[in-house]
Formats: sequence, C-alpha cells, structure tokens
Amino acid sequence: MIITTNPYTLKEIKQYSFLTNDELNLQLNSAQKSYKEWKVIPLKDKELLGLKLKELMLTRKEELAHLISNEMGKPITQSLAEVEKTSTLIDYFTHNTSNFLKNQTLDDYTYVSYHSTGAVFGIMPWNFPLWQVFRFAFPNIMAGNICLLKHAPNVTGCAVAIQQLFIDAGYPKQVFTNLIIDIPQVEQIIKHPIVQGVCLTGSTKAGSSVAALAGKYLKKSVLELGGTDASILLEDADFDTALTSAFESRTANSGQVCIAAKRIFVPKNKLAYAIDFFKQKIADLKHGNPLDSNTQIGPISKAEFLPVLQNQVEETIKNGAELIVGGKINEPFYQTTLLVVNKENPMLKEEIFGPVICIIPYENIDNLIDDVNNSDYGLGTAIWTKNIEKAKTLAKKIEVGYVSINFKVTSDPKFPFGGIKKSGYGKELGEHGLKTFLNAKTNTVA
Ligand code: NAP
Repeated sequence: MIITTNPYTLKEIKQYSFLTNDELNLQLNSAQKSYKEWKVIPLKDKELLGLKLKELMLTRKEELAHLISNEMGKPITQSLAEVEKTSTLIDYFTHNTSNFLKNQTLDDYTYVSYHSTGAVFGIMPWNFPLWQVFRFAFPNIMAGNICLLKHAPNVTGCAVAIQQLFIDAGYPKQVFTNLIIDIPQVEQIIKHPIVQGVCLTGSTKAGSSVAALAGKYLKKSVLELGGTDASILLEDADFDTALTSAFESRTANSGQVCIAAKRIFVPKNKLAYAIDFFKQKIADLKHGNPLDSNTQIGPISKAEFLPVLQNQVEETIKNGAELIVGGKINEPFYQTTLLVVNKENPMLKEEIFGPVICIIPYENIDNLIDDVNNSDYGLGTAIWTKNIEKAKTLAKKIEVGYVSINFKVTSDPKFPFGGIKKSGYGKELGEHGLKTFLNAKTNTVA
C-alpha cells in the first residue's frame, strides 16, 4: 500500500494499493498485444497523437503543476515551468522523429534501418515527476516502443495523471502503462519477454541493483544517476552572472536536482566576494508554502531526508568546512546553507541533495581539473570565463557527460543527456536518446 503525503502540510493525500503479481502479469501480457498494434501504426498518426497529447498537457497545466507541488513540495512557479518544458519535449519529438528514423546509407549496397523492439520499463524518481517520465517515455513511444512505468511512490498521483493524459489524448490501450508496484515486483517486469529495455533515473544504489537484474535477463539498460557537478569560475569570469547562475542551479527545486552546481570552484582572491554575494542571495530567498507563487524554496520532499542532510552538513564541517549561513533543519525545510569547503574534504565526493551551497576556493588553475575530476560522479560541469578557447581546452579534460561554457548545465530535448562514472551510462533525449532502445538493423543488397 502506498500513502502519499503533502511534504509541506504533512497531511495524507491518497492511498493506493499495489498490483498483485497476477494482476501485474495480466498487464504485462496485454501490453505485449498492445505493442504489436502500436508498432505498425503509421508515424503520421503517432504525430497527430503527439500533438493532441501536448495540447492536453497544456490545457491541464495548472492541475498538473498543483499535483507536483502537493506531492513533492516543488514551488508552484517551478512546477508550472516543468509542465511547460515537458510540453516542449513532446513537441520536439513529435516533429523530429520521422527525420531521426530515416535509413542511413553506409555504402552503395548497405544501409541501416531503425526498428522498435518492445516495451521500455522506466523506474523514475520524484524530483521532476513529469519531466523525467516523458524524457524516457515519449521518444520511445514515437519510435514505436511502448512504455511501462514504476514511479517513486510519493508521486503516485502524478503517475496516474500521466497515464490519464495518454488515455484522454486517444492513445491505444497500454501504449503507456503506469504500474503501482513494490520493489520485489521489479524483477517480474524485467524478466517478462515484452520488456526489451530498462531505464532508471535515481540513486547509484538503485541503479546498481536494477542494472544487475537487467544483466541477469539480458535486457539493455540506461542509468541516469546522481551527480556532484562542478561550476568553475575562472579569474576572468563575469562573477555576478556566474554566481547568480550557480545559486539558481543549487537552490532550484529546493536543492534536489541531479545537475545542480554542487561544487562551486572560486579563485581564492574572489572568495570574500562570493561569500557576500551568496549571503545576500540567501537572505532574499523566500522559503514557504509551495503553492504560494512567491515561494522560491519549498520543503524537503521526504521528511526522512532531513536528518540525512543534517548529518552530511555536520560531516562536511567536521572534515574542515566552514559554516557561513544555515546548517540546521527547520521542519519541513532545510535551511539554505552556505559552506566554504576545503578541496580535500571527503564529503565533496558525496551527493548532497538539498539547498547546500559549497564554495571551494582554489589558488591556481594548475590542479583545478584534477580537483574537479576528483569525484566518483561524472554528470555535468559549467565553466565561466571570457576566454572561450581556454574553456574548450579545459572542457576536453573534464570527465563528465556534459560541459557548459558560460551557461548552467541543463537538459534540453535536443541534447543527449547522461553521465559517466557513478552517474550512470547511456543517453536520453536527442537523436542518441531516441535510438537507445531501437534495433539499428544493417541491410545489405548485393
Ligand atoms: P531512488 O531512491 O534511487 O529512487 C528512484 C526510483 O528507483 C524510485 O522509483 C525508487 O522506488 C526506485 N528504486 C529504489 N531502489 C530500487 C531497487 N532496489 N530496485 C528497483 N527500483 C528501485 O532515488 P530518489 O531519491 O528518488 O532520487 C534522487 C536521486 O536521483 C539522486 O541521486 C539524483 O541525483 C538522482 N537523479 C538523477 C537524474 C539524472 O538524470 N541523472 C535526474 C534526477 C534525479 P522506491 O522509492 O519505491 O524505492
């Protein structure tokens, strides 16, 4: 049984029962029939459905945004932005899939054609309850696969609403299926013959266990896991722009973003400036009710994360960091916190999933890239400088899936997105992402 709870009011929202194993099997078997029908529907008809889906999502924008804010505490302006961004993803893949699926000529005799493979099973987190689901599901659906979802339990209402969007837009039954299941039932899904791919966005621990199951049943997997992204400010950076971007990146979604600027490298001679800058920004921040459109920081999404955050901040201080602002639980919030962190601090290797700003002062650029790469994760990095050529040279040496120069690390339907090292493997979005769970078939005509 799942009970969803509003993390701001702490009031129960709704209860949901898990599917029994028999019910789950029935759903998987009928998904197999749906796939056979869906894969042969002409792309033109899939495009028409995509347009309807986008229209319907925008019609329900307020309703969906309120659901997100109520279930996981995201400030309402950011929830509305999430719905709008998700609609751009639908638009992008509705208009570009036919181009991505064209045959590729290799020589006079040989071409590659792209084919759907079956169902892709997505296991998703709560921090972007709409965006993350569409990121894996919609490109696959456009390309002829069908999708099964196990969402994070605290956003089950969002999962139900997503399935309803597909139904109301007129998609055939089970092109998209939300499965309300418990963790032990994940294996039953992965081993079913209709499932040809597994996509998990979440923690490294969950990724490792799902990848092991995917390996056991020889199913392809994509893992989008945590990060400790760096934001590097070089001496000649536009400091106000760079610090503002790093601040927004680190405090968006109350600090619960995989690609947030979790390690902000600042030249030592600019440390005092950066501290004052962030102190002022924190003083101006409005913590409060997620449904209030003035709120910039909401509650931490699950109460059980508060002591985890507290412990991580205390450990960082014990290992040599200086606490400048915050550092305490203020239920249901975590105070927006500012730390100056020594570059050897072992806690820099951990992902801190909350509004904790870590400035790391550096003396010279010689060891900077080693320090940036001194992380088990490899999701993204932002570099701030006026010297673009220098930034491009540094970018080549940084061990991540995405480098952004003079812009925050972000996700966009057009760009392949995904990390390396313990941030996972494989890509979502863009043409690369769309093709991940397709069969690239070689055809030779002699
Ligand atoms: P999580 O605890 O790993 O949960 C993510 C999903 O995995 C949930 O649906 C969860 O279900 C499921 N799960 C957990 N253990 C599992 C297991 N052993 N087998 C199968 N499924 C399992 O992560 P979270 O706390 O929701 O999300 C935060 C993490 O996600 C952070 O590390 C963040 O950086 C990462 N993230 C990464 C990206 C990216 O694109 N790289 C994007 C967003 C978030 P239950 O809750 O039922 O256990």
